[in-house]
Amino acid sequence: MSIDQQISEYYDKLLKRNAGEPEFHQAVSEVLDSLKVVLGKDPHYADDGLVERLCEPERQLIFRVPWIDDKGDIQVNRGFRVQFNSALGPYKGGLRFHPSVNLGIIKFLGFEQIFKNSLTGLPIGGGKGGSDFDPKGRSDREIMRFCQSFMTELQRHIGEYRDVPAGDIGVGGREIGYLFGQYRRLSNQHESGVLTGKGLTWGGSLVRTEATGYGLVYLTAEMMRTHKESFGGAKVIVSGSGNVALYAAEKAQQLGATVVAMSDSSGYITTPNGVDVDALKDIKEVRRERISAYVEEVGNGAQYHAGGNIWEVEADVALPCATQNELDGESAKLLVANGIRYVAEGANMPCTPEAVHYFQANGTAFAPGKAANAGGVATSALEMQQNATRDSWSFEYTDGRLHQIMSNIFKNVERTARDYGCEGDYVAGANIAGFKKVADAMLAQGVI
Ligand code: NDP
Repeated sequence: MSIDQQISEYYDKLLKRNAGEPEFHQAVSEVLDSLKVVLGKDPHYADDGLVERLCEPERQLIFRVPWIDDKGDIQVNRGFRVQFNSALGPYKGGLRFHPSVNLGIIKFLGFEQIFKNSLTGLPIGGGKGGSDFDPKGRSDREIMRFCQSFMTELQRHIGEYRDVPAGDIGVGGREIGYLFGQYRRLSNQHESGVLTGKGLTWGGSLVRTEATGYGLVYLTAEMMRTHKESFGGAKVIVSGSGNVALYAAEKAQQLGATVVAMSDSSGYITTPNGVDVDALKDIKEVRRERISAYVEEVGNGAQYHAGGNIWEVEADVALPCATQNELDGESAKLLVANGIRYVAEGANMPCTPEAVHYFQANGTAFAPGKAANAGGVATSALEMQQNATRDSWSFEYTDGRLHQIMSNIFKNVERTARDYGCEGDYVAGANIAGFKKVADAMLAQGVI
C-alpha cells in the first residue's frame, strides 16, 4: 500500500472513531498531510502503529464541575483534561474557560500542543484542558468558586512530574491564582511546579505574561528578515485584545510598527496612528470592558466597527491572535488583495485550511501557530526550571532566552522544510520538525 493510501485509510478510521469533532479532524488532517513526505523518506516512522498512537490521547478526563452562583443557585459545568502525549516530558498545556469548549476542541488543542512543545526544544509533553464555563459577566467570587470546584477534581490528575496546566482563553492570572490556592489547600504542599502563569511572589516567572505575544513577534521578525524586511514602518493587524494580542501589539510597536487594527468578539477598531496599548490593557485586562470603549477614551483617529471583519483593513502583516478559524478563505483573499505579505498565527489554528492554502499559493509568508505562538509554553517551561531550582531570573535574562528559543524554532522550521523539499512551507517544516522529535522518543520507549 502506498504512503498516501495508508494515511488516507488511517484518517478515515480516525474520522469514524472521533465523530463530531471537526476541529480535531482539521488539526490531524493538516499534520498527516505534512507527514506523507516524512513517511516516504523515512519509512520506519510508519512502523509500530506510531501514527495511530500519536493521534490517540494517552488519557482523556471529563468531569462534573458543580458550583454555587451569587444568587445561591447551583450551576453545573463540564471539565476536561486531555493528556495527549508524555514521551518528551510531563503533559503541558493550558486550560480554556469558554462556552464553546467541548472534547473535540480540547483534543485539537492538545494535539497541536504536542508538536509545539516539541519545537521549543524543552522537555515537555502535550496536553490541554478547560471547561464550558463562561467567565463573562461573572463576579470575582463566582470565578473563585468555579475554579475551586474545577481544581477539586483536577488535582488528582496533575503534578510537577505528571501534568502542568497553565492559562489560555478565559484563564489568566486571576484564575491561575484561585486554581493554585485550591491545589495548595488540598495537597497541603506549596508545589509551585504544578501550574505555570503564577504570580511573581509565589513562583511565577517574569515575561510569562508577555511571552506568547512577544514570542510571536520575535518569530515573525525572523521570518521577515529572510525576506530582508523588518517591523520598522510596517502596518500590522492584530486580531483579539486578550493576553496574546495585547503583548504582540506592544512588541510590534516597540520594533517600529504601527498596529492599525485590533478586535474583540463584538467588533474591531481601526487605529491609523497606532494603538495605545496601555489604554487598551486598562480597558480589556483591568476593567474587562468592550473594545469599543477605546474610541471614546483615546480617540487619536480610532474608529469602531461593530461586528465587522477586521481582515478588510489594509496592512503588511496580519497576526490573528483571537481564536480558531477566525480567518477564512474569503478573508485571506481580501488580505492578499490589500497587499498582505506576512501572516503569523498567535492563536491556535486561527486560519482555516482554505486561508492557509491561499496565502501559500499567493506568495504570503505564513507561520503556523504551533511554531509562532510557542513562546508562551516555552516560557512556562522556563518557569518550571526556575521553580525546580528555587530561583527567579531577571526580565532581561528570561526575555533573552525567549528570543533565542523563537529564533531557533524559526531556523529549525525553515531548515526542515528545505531538507524535505518544501522550501518556504513553514507549515510542513513545523509539522515535520515537531513530529520527528516526538516520534523518535516514542519509538525508543516501545509500544505503550
Ligand atoms: P484571552 O481570553 O486573553 O483573549 C482572547 C481574545 O480574543 C479576547 O479579546 C476575545 O474577545 C477575542 N475573541 C474571542 N473570540 C473572538 C472572535 N470570534 N472574534 C474576535 N475576537 C475574539 O485569550 P488568549 O489571548 O490567552 O488566547 C488567544 C489565542 O491564543 C487562543 O487561540 C489561545 O489558544 C492562543 N494561545 C494562547 C497562549 C497564552 O499564553 N495565553 C499560548 C499559545 C496560544 P472578548 O474579550 O470579546 O472575549
